[in-house]
Amino acid sequence: MKILLIRKDMPIPDDFTPQLFEVSSGLFMDRCAAICMRRMLYAANSCKIKLHIISAYRSPQRQKELVDEDIRINMLKGMSRESATAYTLKTLAMPGESEHNAGLAADLSGADCRFDLSQEFEKTPEFRWLMANAYRFGYILRYPKDKTHITGIDFEPWHFRYVGAPHAENITRRKISLEEYLSYCPK
Ligand SMILES: [Zn+2]
Repeated sequence: MKILLIRKDMPIPDDFTPQLFEVSSGLFMDRCAAICMRRMLYAANSCKIKLHIISAYRSPQRQKELVDEDIRINMLKGMSRESATAYTLKTLAMPGESEHNAGLAADLSGADCRFDLSQEFEKTPEFRWLMANAYRFGYILRYPKDKTHITGIDFEPWHFRYVGAPHAENITRRKISLEEYLSYCPK
């Protein structure tokens, strides 16, 4: 399986269209990612770990709405449009530059951190379970704490990316980022 690297400087190629498959009610991912996500949630549940998908596939249009909305809220808080935009783009990608737009990533959370997407998630049993098991289902923690200089994205303990089990195992065991695995040098 060829791994698609998606970043600010590597948008989703025009010829890639996700084959959307429902992963849980109203939430979709690309087919293989969805099937493996379902298996992962099922396996977690059988270990009494309740993971919830907060966000999965987002259309580029939806991504644009989220970006615009976040900028608007930042401006309401008193920021200029320029700094509001810069602040928003720290946590949200532009349409076509998010793994969510490809249906290859999901944001996960649990009751212990009130289903928030926050760094608190790192301290939960759900996160520990994911760190020990996600690779078996083809998922990696995409934005680790010690790789922010390479990924260009803050630590996101909730964001898991599907790359397929053999790659995920390799990346997880070697404790490297997807960029390092693909020998990609950020510009
Ligand atoms: Zn995410």
